[in-house]
Amino acid sequence: MATGSPQRRAWFESIADPSERHDLEEVVYSDRSGGLLQVVHDQAELAKRSAADWKALFELRARRNEWPYGSGVWGKKEWVLPDIDNENVVSMYEGHTNLFWAERYGRQIGLEDLWLKLCGNSHTGSFKDLGMTVLVSQVKQMIASGVSIPAVACASTGDTSAALSAYAAAAGIPAIVFLPRGKISLAQLIQPVANGAIVFALDTDFDGCMEIVKQVSMKDGVYLANSMNSLRVEGQKTVGIEIAQQFDWQMPDWLVIPGGNLGNVSALAKGLDMLFELGLITKRPRICVGQAAAANPLYLAYLRNFEVFEPIAARTTVASAIQIGNPVSYVKAVDALRRYDGVVEEASESEIMEECAKADRTGLFNCPHTGVALVALRKLQRRGLVKGGDKVVVVSTAHGLKFVDSKLAYHSMKLEGVVSEHPNPPIELPADYGQVRDRMKREIDRRFGG
Ligand SMILES: *Cc1c(COP(=O)(O)O)cnc(C)c1O
Repeated sequence: MATGSPQRRAWFESIADPSERHDLEEVVYSDRSGGLLQVVHDQAELAKRSAADWKALFELRARRNEWPYGSGVWGKKEWVLPDIDNENVVSMYEGHTNLFWAERYGRQIGLEDLWLKLCGNSHTGSFKDLGMTVLVSQVKQMIASGVSIPAVACASTGDTSAALSAYAAAAGIPAIVFLPRGKISLAQLIQPVANGAIVFALDTDFDGCMEIVKQVSMKDGVYLANSMNSLRVEGQKTVGIEIAQQFDWQMPDWLVIPGGNLGNVSALAKGLDMLFELGLITKRPRICVGQAAAANPLYLAYLRNFEVFEPIAARTTVASAIQIGNPVSYVKAVDALRRYDGVVEEASESEIMEECAKADRTGLFNCPHTGVALVALRKLQRRGLVKGGDKVVVVSTAHGLKFVDSKLAYHSMKLEGVVSEHPNPPIELPADYGQVRDRMKREIDRRFGG
């Protein structure tokens, strides 16, 4: 280990060469040959506590007020960042999001046991909070122990920058975000603006922003907060652990998740791995990744059994947070899919919007990425891989309120390339009782009548 003390309970390790280790306080994003790092935990240390005791501890801490353990992430602190001082934790009590039983939508599509893990019900409205609390906490700890870090920075399709800006602002650490100009939603743009981040809107796409942020982190010492920094995975992996906990440690048959840069599916699988290794669960769910057809490099590789991978130029999609052609965590994701008998599906723009609209009518309010996952689920059903009695959890990655632009366009029948089969535009009428009553009766009959 380069600078670490021997009693560390977690460290960075090269995926390609496990003998290459780095202390978590080292500023390092990739291994010596440029490959991905991962955080590895001292499993023998963790195994000193029994599965039953871990479950009891996690239950005891959930949603309580003892700092910082009430957070869904920090309630699992020993599995996440065991060596951090509690006073350096930057938390907004992220996690413990609702596992929504989609009873009515499920019945409509022939599934009795369908659930949505609503990760968007969070401080900045997406699952990115789960990873950012860990990364920003580690940065605060490094600054406290004298490491020179002038700022934290990320390239973003919108949600990463919102999470980074909020957590950095809470910690009083400067944040810099690089966004592709005109390619993110208004709600996503205003979050870092309001939180006081230094916001750059660049004339490029996400992959172009990524190139710039890599340069400022390498040349100017700015700390990189993108998911090639494997600290974020440590927080995001709690989503799978939480799903297990919410089902009393019984795993579903299928987990369906949208993927762009592919950090989140890697994280999901990593959480499940730890649950297995430490004996908290015994059943192995299958994992399906949904991609937008406009940004589908993983899907294309899946069709060729992951034997070849070619980055693509991602085209515009309503699922803007996954408009990524060269996913950083491709290798980790393929590994994850191999361990969990994985499948990849793709969704066209109109499939995404129609499935969102259909599910929204049953009380949900889906972001387009969740729509991608729902389309993937429908395709699994059609292929006979998901059957009526299966228990399925769809990981909903963001709150629909962050993506009202595409929803509004859909319901106004103005979304380019999409026909809008379930539009519900506001009915504009004069303030006249008779006209309102007639129209009201017709609408009730049309929508709910026989
Ligand atoms: C970041 C993001 C994703 C994709 O996660 P990856 O780790 O990039 O695969 C999906 N949905 C939303 C809403 C996101 O913000």
